[in-house]
Amino acid sequence: MAERPYNFSAGPATLPPSVLERAAAEMLDWRCADGRSSGIGVMEMSHRGREFGEIFASAEHQLRALLAVPPHFKILFMQGGAIAENSIVPLNLSRGGVTDHVVTGQWSLKTHQEALRYGEARVVASNVQPGEANHTRLPNPAGWQLSARANYVHVCSNETINGIEFHELPDLHALGCDAPLVIDCSSHLASRPIDWSRVGLAYGGAQKNIGPAGLTLVFVREDLLGHALRVCPAAFNYSVVAAHDSMYNTPPTWAIYVAGLVFEWMTDQGGVAELERRNIEKASLLYDAIDRSGFYVNRVEPSARSRMNVPFFMPDSSLDPVFLAGAETQGLLQLKGHKSVGGLRASLYNAMPLEGVQALVGYMREFAARHA
Ligand SMILES: *Cc1c(COP(=O)(O)O)cnc(C)c1O
Repeated sequence: MAERPYNFSAGPATLPPSVLERAAAEMLDWRCADGRSSGIGVMEMSHRGREFGEIFASAEHQLRALLAVPPHFKILFMQGGAIAENSIVPLNLSRGGVTDHVVTGQWSLKTHQEALRYGEARVVASNVQPGEANHTRLPNPAGWQLSARANYVHVCSNETINGIEFHELPDLHALGCDAPLVIDCSSHLASRPIDWSRVGLAYGGAQKNIGPAGLTLVFVREDLLGHALRVCPAAFNYSVVAAHDSMYNTPPTWAIYVAGLVFEWMTDQGGVAELERRNIEKASLLYDAIDRSGFYVNRVEPSARSRMNVPFFMPDSSLDPVFLAGAETQGLLQLKGHKSVGGLRASLYNAMPLEGVQALVGYMREFAARHA
């Protein structure tokens, strides 16, 4: 295959070329593990047939192993994306009562706003501070105003737009809170291990680290099932979805198949621990280049900086289009910042190789030298 450009998109995002090649090779005729030809492509298969059953079981098995998901967690393969989960979670877990929300950026803010439809959704901590740049640090969990009767506490463990990451999940137990922690981990899922002892439910869209858009992964502790509101649609009722092994309605079959190929790739790379090591290396390289440049800035407090999504700014935003056009000619794509914050953003998901970040840093250095 011809050399591909490096794609820094925040999502849908870059995928390993070997995965795309395999999906292309199998597009018209998928072969079973025993080498038998199915004669049809994965998109054309019944989700209840033997072939797709093999694909599904393998994807689930590999994901469980990669993330060391304990047996008392169900893994649900759903649709709707993380934004739909902003409704589906309260429909299933809020019991129409109090939910606690930690607002650290635009995604957790959106989650809180949606939860207001279903009960008393409270903001118990936030990093919006008068007189300070917003969304640049993580509020210390010791200061969270947790409710006595919250049905869950929600955090976005990686704020994709603002570039803020919880490098350690809060330990609610240690804070005297028995409510389950719910995390939106869309944009760093599978980039590092998850401490399941601190989590009640985790959800994420696939299109950042896992595969094509259309698949949403939900990891839910079994004891949290069974309390959905009466108005909860059956297709979004976690108990119903779990009881049907994610086949109550047609799951996003092709996206699950590609995700399975990505899981195989992740395993071949050495698993999540090795990917985390590489992600730390890539992020350090880029943040160091920004901090030492005297030209680019990232405003997030170093301890809260995301390894996955790195927003950065130049002294003069009128240079942004010049930077982006030059980057494209070097094969460095999709570096435009989110429209709400402006500037530039590089997303460094699992499938972004170190060489891509080296190429970006080289281009940034040269650009700064020309325009400083
Ligand atoms: C991308 C993203 C979303 C939005 O997901 P959709 O698939 O568009 O619903 C929500 N939360 C986070 C943290 C994200 O990164």
